[in-house]
Amino acid sequence: MMQSYDKLTTISSLDKLTHIISRLPSIGEKTAMRLAIYLFNCESEYLEDFAESLNSLHENIKLCKKCFSLSETEVCSICENDKRDNSIICVIESFPDMLAIERTKEYNGVYHVLGNLIAPLKGIGISDIKIKELLDRTKNDDIKEIILAFSASLEADTTAGFIYKKLIEENFKGKITRITYGISLGSDIENADSRSLGRSLIDRLEIE
Ligand SMILES: [Zn+2]
Repeated sequence: MMQSYDKLTTISSLDKLTHIISRLPSIGEKTAMRLAIYLFNCESEYLEDFAESLNSLHENIKLCKKCFSLSETEVCSICENDKRDNSIICVIESFPDMLAIERTKEYNGVYHVLGNLIAPLKGIGISDIKIKELLDRTKNDDIKEIILAFSASLEADTTAGFIYKKLIEENFKGKITRITYGISLGSDIENADSRSLGRSLIDRLEIE
């Protein structure tokens, strides 16, 4: 589909690149144009690498079939590792949260990446995130514990509450716990320092 772009300058190729860049999160139009001009001044080798990475992005990176984390293979290296405890699932919002938890070295279970949190105001509903897939996993595998590890927010509370309700409805027999990180600090998991995040994993509380 060809998209038409607002005219910003007399150079339509520059306008197009500026609009494409400005769709990235937290990038306004001015910054986008500055970046477009920056790119114009880069060596062609860098630009070729850049273009090639974008072109093959969906081909090279997929969602793991089991946990929906990013992976270059059908099933990611964590799900495939038989040294990991498959009976504990840590439910997280996104891939960077998984990296942060891995850095703590305090967790040896597996993950489930929701991809987002329930946010009705942003139009993100239950069917937009991988909750059904999580419930399927708890039905099929022998799961002893589900850990909910979200950054502190209203969306996180809504999502945690919904998952808890569903698990109870589906007669989940294992423990349901929640990490304590950020709940009082208002910080996010992705930027957490490993020691306090690790501590809050160890100190996780059972939801009742
Ligand atoms: Zn996986």
